[in-house]
Amino acid sequence: MAVERTLAILKPDCVKKNLIGKVTAQIQEAGFKVVAMRMTRLTKETAGGFYEVHKERPFFGELVEFMSSGPCVPIVLEKENAVADFRKLIGATNPANADAGTVRKLYADSVGENIVHGSDSVENAKIEINYHFASSDLVANYGF
Ligand code: ADP
Ligand code: MG
Repeated sequence: MAVERTLAILKPDCVKKNLIGKVTAQIQEAGFKVVAMRMTRLTKETAGGFYEVHKERPFFGELVEFMSSGPCVPIVLEKENAVADFRKLIGATNPANADAGTVRKLYADSVGENIVHGSDSVENAKIEINYHFASSDLVANYGF
């Protein structure tokens, strides 16, 4: 299996609930390496640009409000099969449908406020990583 990178975002509800450490620990325990990580606050414009693909959906306004409502933590993760494995770790979009033990099942309150983002394809992961990080931020070459 190929080593891939994926973009995670610990969303504002994750930060608000003081769960950055717990969720990051669960991600690392699942074998993901943190390549880059920072805290930022998205504006409505940057949140809207990130979720551009959803702009015709009825929940778009609510999503942009939520994602710009407080700080979030974008993270670049690396692992074999990272994209699919991370989606599995976080669980279904709606926590009510998420498998037991997944991040969203454990911590999310609703389909909108669902703790964490994960890229849905290798191609989108590259676009999303470039949206949140400069290539000079991707400095972590673990060398092992
Ligand atoms: P995922 O984050 O699992 O890839 P989507 O790409 O479908 O899910 O949606 C992006 C984000 O939009 C979701 O994580 C969630 O925050 C929000 N969202 C999706 N569906 C709904 C909905 N029906 N109502 C409110 N917010 C939603
Ligand atoms: Mg998605």
